[in-house]
Amino acid sequence: MKKTLRQSATITGVGLHTGLPVTLTLRPAPPHTGIIFQRTDLNHFEIEATRQHVARVSYATTLMRKGVLISTVEHLLSALHALCVTDVYVELNAMEVPILDGSADPFVRMIDEAGLTEIGSSLEPLRIVKPIEIRQGSKFAAVYPGERLRITYEIDFPHPMIGKQSLDIEITFNSYRRGIAPARTFGFYHEIQDLMQNGLVRGGSFDNAIVLDHQGVMNPDPGLRYPDEFVRHKILDLIGDLSLVGRPILGHIVISRGGHALHAALTSAIHREHQPAKITPTAELRACSSPAW
Ligand SMILES: [Zn+2]
Repeated sequence: MKKTLRQSATITGVGLHTGLPVTLTLRPAPPHTGIIFQRTDLNHFEIEATRQHVARVSYATTLMRKGVLISTVEHLLSALHALCVTDVYVELNAMEVPILDGSADPFVRMIDEAGLTEIGSSLEPLRIVKPIEIRQGSKFAAVYPGERLRITYEIDFPHPMIGKQSLDIEITFNSYRRGIAPARTFGFYHEIQDLMQNGLVRGGSFDNAIVLDHQGVMNPDPGLRYPDEFVRHKILDLIGDLSLVGRPILGHIVISRGGHALHAALTSAIHREHQPAKITPTAELRACSSPAW
């Protein structure tokens, strides 16, 4: 079923890349609204969270309409999608979604506190019927038919704390909450100067990212939330980027050495190759129908 929030919820923070303070409010929306961002600092200018509005995919996913931007949408979209929030207004008084602790957990808590309510019509899943494979140098992305959303993700960073990590996980309401939402974003200290010169990561800190030097984690509290937190965060990002298809996906996604650009390429290919699936009660149940899914 389609779902919205039972009541509004507000959170404040800073943008990871702009460093600007921002207040974000989620507001209940009627059926068929979709996920609509509203810039309250620009007369409630609206940008719908759809694939067509993706403007930039380096270091974060940015939406744009008529030159107006909403940046770093992926962690919020990931939480909304995994918790089956299909219709909601997202008000922002600046151009970037707050980074908070660098994970999707604060958004999950925010949605939990607001509560969810069903708003009638069925949710149409996108059932993968045709395999798609994309290769970009050493990077690989694919999707294969499957009855549920399963993700196999592999990363390979030449760093003593990361190295090769892979995770194969069926994404459900519970597996997402427990194993994906709390995983934080990460970055390398030696890249930070370059990123800042390009106007990025101005709001970055040890409070909102895992920062790595050549040997290890630089954060004052160097503990990780999971031994493989890095690959888990990549899956968190992937779910946010895939949500721009607009429907829950039933299929097995395989990614090697991915990032937002590869996720966007796969999302576009899925959209291009697959027509809306026929709604079946079973498919809907498996995709996104109850808190126990
Ligand atoms: Zn991320």
